[in-house]
Amino acid sequence: MAKTEKVKLPSWKEVVIGGINPDAGSAAKYNSGTWRTFKPVWSDERCIQCNLCWIHCPDSSIMIKDGKVCGMDLVHCKGCGICASICPVKPKKAIEMVKEEK
Ligand code: SF4
Ligand code: SF4
Repeated sequence: MAKTEKVKLPSWKEVVIGGINPDAGSAAKYNSGTWRTFKPVWSDERCIQCNLCWIHCPDSSIMIKDGKVCGMDLVHCKGCGICASICPVKPKKAIEMVKEEK
C-alpha cells in the first residue's frame, strides 16, 4: 500500500492575492442579457413587494422605483433564475422563468 504524503497547505496569510478588478461596475457597458436562455417574467398582480428578488439578484437586474419592484433589466439579466427561486409567493410565484424565443 502506497504511503500517503502529507502536503503542507499555506495559511490564508500566505495565499497569493488573486485578481482584482480595478474597474468595478464595468459590466454595465455590456449587454450581458444576450447570454440568457431563460428570462424572468414578473407579475405585478402576484408580487407582494418583499424585495427578496432585488436583494438576491447577482446582476442588480431587478428594477426598483419608489422602493418597489417594477420589472427586470433584461439588458443585463443573465437568466440565472435566482429571483424566481427565492420568490416566496405561492402557489404560483410572482416571477417565472420562461425560455427565450429566437
Ligand atoms: S434571472 Fe438572475 S440575473 Fe436575471 S433578474 Fe433574476 S436573479 Fe437577476
Ligand atoms: S421576490 Fe417575488 S414577491 Fe418578492 S418582490 Fe420579488 S417578485 Fe415580488
